[in-house]
Amino acid sequence: MSQTFVVLIGPPGAGKGTQAKIAAEKLQIPHISTGDLFRDNLKNQTELGKTAQTYMNSGQLVPDEVTIAMVADRISCPDCAKGALLDGFPRTIAQAEAFDKILGEQFGTSICCVPLIDLANEVLVSRLSGRWMCPQGHVFHEVNNPPKVEGVCDVCGLTLYQREDDKTETILHRIEVYENQTAPLIDYYEKKGVLNRVDGNRTIDEVSADILSVIRAGCGLKE
Ligand code: ADP
Ligand code: ADP
Repeated sequence: MSQTFVVLIGPPGAGKGTQAKIAAEKLQIPHISTGDLFRDNLKNQTELGKTAQTYMNSGQLVPDEVTIAMVADRISCPDCAKGALLDGFPRTIAQAEAFDKILGEQFGTSICCVPLIDLANEVLVSRLSGRWMCPQGHVFHEVNNPPKVEGVCDVCGLTLYQREDDKTETILHRIEVYENQTAPLIDYYEKKGVLNRVDGNRTIDEVSADILSVIRAGCGLKE
């Protein structure tokens, strides 16, 4: 049985969450967002959520061992047997190495495609400061992608909110953290021959068409 493990990378605000939801549905594989998993834990006030909170609110990364353990747990669920689309993980070289090990040892496979959504820093700031989220992870933008009814999620009808970490000074810090800790993954995946750059400064539909096409080519999937 061939599996489809895809990792979507890009700076905060590039459109990973938006695109991951679309691609995972088209490919019929689970969407695993470490940001959403941490936010769920925070909402339910679990120990993991409490640990993650301070890091998240200040725009820092949650420590590798905590994040890796959470993903190892999630990826062992039966719905991931055929693959998964990861968004927001890995974010450090240590996480990437740990994930490669898990895929090799537990699934006898490796990542087949890493789409990198490219976007200039100025655009990232306006994307994040206008972002509105639903508690289930659906994403909107007050100008670019407004919900049909202000403040309400089109998909599940829940009330939208603005994230604590989407404030200008935290956004700038997160971009810096991305450049220092996550950008080295570009080289890591390029060397493995799985990296595909996608221009994120286009409409949501144009970006998703490109992402699906690189994933299908990289993972040997039919249209
Ligand atoms: P990330 O998960 O990479 O942080 P999101 O998917 O949450 O990014 O998107 C950040 C913001 O940008 C959201 O408000 C979203 O609605 C908006 N957005 C996403 N893709 C596009 C696009 N192609 N054009 C314009 N706005 C977009
Ligand atoms: P965005 O795509 O807007 O940058 P996410 O929702 O992916 O944000 O992540 C929000 C926060 O959750 C991060 O700033 C960080 O504190 C934490 N986080 C998410 N994924 C990871 C990860 N792989 N490693 C460490 N921390 C993470």
